[in-house]
Amino acid sequence: MALRVGVIGGGQLARMMIAPAVELGLDLRVLAEDEGMAAQLAATEVGDYHDLEVVRAFVADVDVVTFDHEHVPQQVLRALVAEGVAVHPGPDALQFAQDKLLMRARLEELGVPQPDWAPVRDASELQAFLDEHDGQGVVKTPRGGYDGKGVRVVRAASEAQDWLDGLADGEALLVEELVGFVRELAQQVARRPSGQIVAYPVVETVQREGVCAEVIAPAPHATDRLAQVAEEIGRSIAEGLGVTGMLAVELFETDDERILVNELAMRPHNSGHWSQDGAVTGQFEQHLRAVADLPLGDTAPHAAWSVMVNILGGPQSGSLGERFAGAMEAHPSAKIHTYGKAPRPGRKVGHVNVTGDDLDDAVYVARAAAAHFD
Ligand code: ADP
Repeated sequence: MALRVGVIGGGQLARMMIAPAVELGLDLRVLAEDEGMAAQLAATEVGDYHDLEVVRAFVADVDVVTFDHEHVPQQVLRALVAEGVAVHPGPDALQFAQDKLLMRARLEELGVPQPDWAPVRDASELQAFLDEHDGQGVVKTPRGGYDGKGVRVVRAASEAQDWLDGLADGEALLVEELVGFVRELAQQVARRPSGQIVAYPVVETVQREGVCAEVIAPAPHATDRLAQVAEEIGRSIAEGLGVTGMLAVELFETDDERILVNELAMRPHNSGHWSQDGAVTGQFEQHLRAVADLPLGDTAPHAAWSVMVNILGGPQSGSLGERFAGAMEAHPSAKIHTYGKAPRPGRKVGHVNVTGDDLDDAVYVARAAAAHFD
């Protein structure tokens, strides 16, 4: 019987696992949040992942559980593990992707380079940190943030007063030094439960308004030293935290060529979409191989450059589908991926991958193809 992989969460990441699962001969099942998502996916149940009974019923029919997102509560995951369910990544690793304060403390123990940081519970603690860091800092809600929501640059403690007021007893916000980075990078690695690790080349990510807009693989002008340090960071985090499946480490590169860790994602990640069409083994296939504890695939790129451009928002009127043929006709070398989501300002509704020997050409074609969906 085919190995049954259960994915909790029915977003685009689960959707993009479907084709590789078919090719690998895995039986993929998805627990989606709502009917709208389920309609886009095969073998999908609808249910609330916060509800242990719902999740228990879903996992009863699978051999291994993994995720499309990081929001499944620790209590639910720990109950499954106690019942003998194979969960990858497990709750001990996943907690560091769920809570940025826990992550900062653990990375400090591991000796991984990161921005100065502190937990702050009130305005005086926050102001003290700002005073020591040129009067500025980045305040973050430790849990539940995504796409820049839950991140605020502040120059006075009062600018985070609403978040401080919302803290429950025992809770804290995270404050970090405002890093003057020259660019953002991402390092992905995959790790199997049995310990094998493979690393992808470090990539450059371009964010607009807190949302990933473009990715270039490998990161242009990356020296061997930079690539090596990034890979070393990825491997040591995967090992140190016991991550299973894909791990993405978001990084800042500073003007003195230092690399600092911004945050972690333990699942396929936007920074790795290029690998679907640009590497021997795409990240969705790799994630499935890793969580199923199968031998990992080659991460080598197919071409000198791969460029990924997100389709953000989608057309103001009509559907993405209506634009598809025009984009394909104008740019036959572009690989266009859509997520079956309704257009909405700022929403990630698809992406375009282009590979080639000339970086400028690849960037041009990827942007032009994505622009067909504006
Ligand atoms: P999210 O979890 O919402 O993705 P991040 O922690 O990745 O939030 O922050 C979103 C963006 O904010 C980052 O991609 C980066 O551009 C900026 N940012 C975050 N932390 C810092 C920092 N310490 N210094 C400078 N910029 C930062």
